[in-house]
Amino acid sequence: MAVALIVAAGRGERLGSDRPKALITLGGKPMLEWSVATLRSVAGIEQIVVALPADALQAAPAGTVAVAGGAVRSGSVRAALLACGGGDPVVVHDAARPLAPAALFADAIGLLESSPRVDAVIAAAPVSDTIKQVGEDRRTVERTLERARLWAVQTPQVFRRAALERVFRDASDELLAEATDDAWLVEQAGGTVQVVESSARNIKVTTPTDLKLAELLLAELVEGGG
Ligand code: C5P
Repeated sequence: MAVALIVAAGRGERLGSDRPKALITLGGKPMLEWSVATLRSVAGIEQIVVALPADALQAAPAGTVAVAGGAVRSGSVRAALLACGGGDPVVVHDAARPLAPAALFADAIGLLESSPRVDAVIAAAPVSDTIKQVGEDRRTVERTLERARLWAVQTPQVFRRAALERVFRDASDELLAEATDDAWLVEQAGGTVQVVESSARNIKVTTPTDLKLAELLLAELVEGGG
């Protein structure tokens, strides 16, 4: 049976709120509750652990396990992993992505289960913009990357428990601070990571504009009964 870790310990300064980002009201309830409700509807998830700021543990939804998050995102994932006794695979999800649909979690878990040589399956959307890499001056274009092979990475990210435990056991605090997603830690350790196609609608709420867009997309989902 799988375990889900939701990281919700970010402060959300870019949203200009005094509340932790995951607890901002979105579509009538705290942002975190959208992901918890979705995960409850995914077959095979036996436990949900939520990493929150140490002074907001009481905000964990009923039936979830609350744990104090770390100073950086991957530190919060590590704290949540340590707090859950068992569960394999481990589903990691950002509370800041309230629109991730249940089918995406199920697809990622299913793909990992049917791929014995893969250590992690991560949700990602094909990139529609052309992406260029600039030099150290942060301005002069060095090269244009091949768009057909570029994916914008999201969560959920689903890991074999042994692979995730290994990277967290071996990673220094500096490496954790550098990681913008946990799959990168597995890549660094030589593991195999595959993408599962997701929609660009699975946005990460970072700015006030994202918040407005998420409100609109959630209203559409609720109206459509999905
Ligand atoms: O800051 P960013 O938007 O990348 O955060 C992504 C997710 O990681 C959010 O759900 C946020 O609450 C979580 N996070 C965390 N602990 C931190 C920083 C971010 O749980 N120290």
